[in-house]
Amino acid sequence: MRKFQHYIDGRFEEGPASFESRNPATGEVWALMPDAGRDGTDRAVKAAHRAFTDPAWADLTATQRGKLLYRLADLIAANVPALAAIETADTGKIIRETSSQIAYVADYYRYYAGLADKIQGAYLPIDKPGMEAWLRREPIGVVAAIVPWNSQLFLSAVKLGPALAAGCTIVLKASEEAPGPMLDFARLIHEAGFPPGVVNIITGFGAECGATLTSHPLVSRIAFTGGPETARHVLRNSAANLAVTSLELGGKSPIVVFSDADIDSAANAVVAGIFAATGQSCVAGSRLLVQRDLKDRFLEILARKAGQIRIGDPQQKETELGPLATERQRDRIEKIVAASVTAGARLITGGKRPDGFDRGFYYLPTILDCTGVNSPSVDEELFGPVLSVLAFDDEDEALRLANATPYGLASGVFTRDLARAHRLVRKIRAGIVWVNTYRAISPIVPFGGYGLSGFGREGGLDSILDYTRTKSVWLKTTDDPFPDPFVMR
Ligand code: NAD
Repeated sequence: MRKFQHYIDGRFEEGPASFESRNPATGEVWALMPDAGRDGTDRAVKAAHRAFTDPAWADLTATQRGKLLYRLADLIAANVPALAAIETADTGKIIRETSSQIAYVADYYRYYAGLADKIQGAYLPIDKPGMEAWLRREPIGVVAAIVPWNSQLFLSAVKLGPALAAGCTIVLKASEEAPGPMLDFARLIHEAGFPPGVVNIITGFGAECGATLTSHPLVSRIAFTGGPETARHVLRNSAANLAVTSLELGGKSPIVVFSDADIDSAANAVVAGIFAATGQSCVAGSRLLVQRDLKDRFLEILARKAGQIRIGDPQQKETELGPLATERQRDRIEKIVAASVTAGARLITGGKRPDGFDRGFYYLPTILDCTGVNSPSVDEELFGPVLSVLAFDDEDEALRLANATPYGLASGVFTRDLARAHRLVRKIRAGIVWVNTYRAISPIVPFGGYGLSGFGREGGLDSILDYTRTKSVWLKTTDDPFPDPFVMR
């Protein structure tokens, strides 16, 4: 059995305790993970705090920080197969996706590497004679980065990349559900040559490790990705340290398909939106809104495509749909689908475990027609391969349904009518609108949600500023004595 270690203050170490991690494709324990608990988490934060002002890191120029990040990117690119195999073993995510995503993660680090020496302060045209004033932009301090189990290398890149480019130090808490890829990634941090304590990678459970980290008095910034319920804990924890916090949360993203769309392309995008990554994606297009006169034909196409998806061992390149990450997650999906069918939703395809998969946490690609029905699958984030379908008559109704959710992470619009596309882009309440495409991401384009999908944006030029704060500097340039002390200057 493989045994993973924490990375604290530049050293690899066992946890005070450990726990087992199961391979979702077999249901069997495949690795032993360290548990940082409260003490290990506290030590990691203290190491990051010490490293923040240590000249080995604090005195590096921005360009030197960028070079470290470029080195890290090259190491990631050279280690894609090893990292992808671990992520697939721990999460069940198919190797096709983990390999391509991790290869792209290298480009995310390159993007932030290039930004490191483009963080600029400002010289201010002060309105007072005999004074100079300027702004310094300084790294914010110790960052607590918390990620869920899906796409951890990617979700941590959009936190570590800007934080390191800006000169912060970090404690990253990998998800206890599947910490393998992040703990292994620490090897590359070490090899790239980041000074001890600059990046610390630990794992453990929410109530101990997560809570200690997010309430720690030495933490200045929290970058959290996960579910809204956990986010509420994180915000409550951060009342202790008043850390600047960003939240990337879940979604119930709509894909709106009009009858004039390129139908086959739209169907492929819907498949990508809900069945890629076995639907375990924050931007999963889990609500299909389809124009009524197209619905039956479109569902036929979708059901055919869903039936052709190759289910299997996620480590095999040809596999298109792997298992769900946890047994608990599959049980929850089964319950919600059953409740939806009881509520009147019509099962178009799937709705059960695939035949021949006695081991592992597999679930068939599932389509539920929920038109005219009060189905729980329409409202709850399932984080699985379950598509809820609703028909609409016109643009107004499409928009009303698209916005009928407290979430607002992503959305898709499929139409050949450019003017209509623009109208919907303006009116959909979501942080991302994909028009005639879906599930495209880039370090260059900000990512984040409205409403219960959280606040803050990751990616894009401005995201690096979220890891800095300004310091206003005033300098008197005359030798005149300080004037009347009882009047504000
Ligand atoms: P989760 O909220 O259960 O856990 C996320 C992380 O929070 C884990 O590392 C967990 O240990 C930690 N945690 C738990 N309790 C904590 C506490 N009290 N204090 C601090 N940390 C605590 O999420 P999950 O089930 O692992 O992941 C699925 C969720 O993540 C879904 O809602 C999904 O949509 C969301 N997600 C969002 C994005 C995005 O970028 N918007 C990306 C991926 C996943």
